[in-house]
Amino acid sequence: MRTPPSGILNWTRRDFVRTGLVTAGAANVAAFVRPSPWPAGAATDPASDLDKLARSVRGRLLRKTSPEYDDARRVWNQAYDLRPLAMVRAANVDDVRRSVEFARKHTVPIAIRAGGHSYAGYGVADGALQIDLGALTTVSVDRDRRTASVGGGTRIRDLLTATLAAGLYTPMGACGAVGVAGLALAGGDTSGRGLYGTACDNLVGAQLVTADGNVLELGPGNNEDLYWAIRGGGGNFGVVTRLDFRLHPVVPMHTAGFAFGWPSVNDLAGVLRTFGDLVRETPDEVRAGFFVDPAAGAFASCDFRGDPAAAAAYLEKWKQAFRPAEARMSTSMPKPDGEQWNTTRLAVDGAFIEDLSGGVVDVLARAAVEARGVGQMLLGLSNGVAARVPMSATAYALRGTGLSSLVAAEWDKPEGRARAEQWVAETGAALRPLAHRAYVNYLPRSTPERIREAYGANYPRLARIKAQYDPANLFRSNQNIVPAPRS
Ligand SMILES: Cc1cc2nc3c(=O)[nH]c(=O)nc-3n(C[C@H](O)[C@H](O)[C@H](O)COP(=O)(O)OP(=O)(O)OC[C@H]3O[C@@H](n4cnc5c(N)ncnc54)[C@H](O)[C@@H]3O)c2cc1C
Repeated sequence: MRTPPSGILNWTRRDFVRTGLVTAGAANVAAFVRPSPWPAGAATDPASDLDKLARSVRGRLLRKTSPEYDDARRVWNQAYDLRPLAMVRAANVDDVRRSVEFARKHTVPIAIRAGGHSYAGYGVADGALQIDLGALTTVSVDRDRRTASVGGGTRIRDLLTATLAAGLYTPMGACGAVGVAGLALAGGDTSGRGLYGTACDNLVGAQLVTADGNVLELGPGNNEDLYWAIRGGGGNFGVVTRLDFRLHPVVPMHTAGFAFGWPSVNDLAGVLRTFGDLVRETPDEVRAGFFVDPAAGAFASCDFRGDPAAAAAYLEKWKQAFRPAEARMSTSMPKPDGEQWNTTRLAVDGAFIEDLSGGVVDVLARAAVEARGVGQMLLGLSNGVAARVPMSATAYALRGTGLSSLVAAEWDKPEGRARAEQWVAETGAALRPLAHRAYVNYLPRSTPERIREAYGANYPRLARIKAQYDPANLFRSNQNIVPAPRS
């Protein structure tokens, strides 16, 4: 095994994806970047009413003829080059409501954009009315009640800047530029979930503009069905214009990182089995991940949040298990910006792996070795409080201890695309029969069957709530929950 490369220590998703970027891509994207017209006959011609909408909103409406149109429709994952009918830069909740009413009247589908970081490019869609929440970014922190409220377009960095200034924290993703809503409404693959639950578990209230233009308050005792559905069901139920989060004390993070370079498939399988044994049962303070970087190879990391002495005692177990790989030790505090990952072209796939043993280890080890120079792999532990929430308590279905996997590959020149897509497609297809459920934010644009599978037992209730609040499926630029047929 190789000496750990420098910089691998404080692992973040950035280390995992950025170290030695390569040209790569991902499976299934091609099928979805082609213009995909909405169902024939669904839309009437709304062009003349767009003028009326433009006059009625406080924000701006951009059309195909607007000079800013091409810049504005661009999203983080540039594999998606899609052309919405128009884009409303909403200035307030009323603009959102008017936009939804326009879309309903003309049966134009809606694409919601917050941070614009959807791997599957859902913040934009051909022929849709995009509602851009980029101006709804108010953040307020109530230190006494330990809550924070944010506008629907707020980025993680702005939420955490405000909470950390008050000495408080809520579990969020690793990249500060990602939208809070896009992440939390799908559940969240978050740091701190072992101690505090994941992002949707800390969502204590929200304001939602539904497909019929109603502005509803959601929370315990308030529109409970929708409150259940938005904690995992993503943007399927309407536009969330405000999110309220529970806050927690900030705790230092003590990290042990281990780098393995590029061992053989057999050796890597051995490392994965050891990692699987270590994460099968963990204290809530632990966050752990296994990564494969296309340049640097495989590495594992364990963070312990809390008392330094307890951390040192626990991390010793990891040091022993991974010998002779040398542990790199560090201590850090949460940071608002996290990592940066610039706009790219990328393909992804994901799965939730319940136990790292048996056939799944062989599949992962082989895929990891083949990732060299092509793709990246992340296995993030879901444990503790997040794992103990009952499956039926929220729509988010990744309960019980497990590893949320993301395989991703980027390309910057067109000739890199096919290889990247192939690696992601093959890895995703090999993992799928071995893993049930998936984190919907890590999936490519997916078929209804795949989404049904991802939500597992929670899907039928989601489909019923969808049928009640969005029977025409206006909100379908997302990992779509198809409205249940009316009985
Ligand atoms: C660099 C990078 C790092 C990432 N790191 C993590 C991570 O650490 N953990 C993790 O869990 N995920 C992570 N992700 C995945 C991320 O959570 C999803 O891509 C998420 O959808 C991005 O949200 P957004 O608001 O930025 O995206 P957008 O493209 O703006 O929105 C995506 C979709 O989310 C829904 N949505 C967004 N806002 C609203 C709203 N206000 N109301 C209703 N629906 C809404 C809509 O369906 C929308 O189309 C990462 C992605 C990237 C690109």
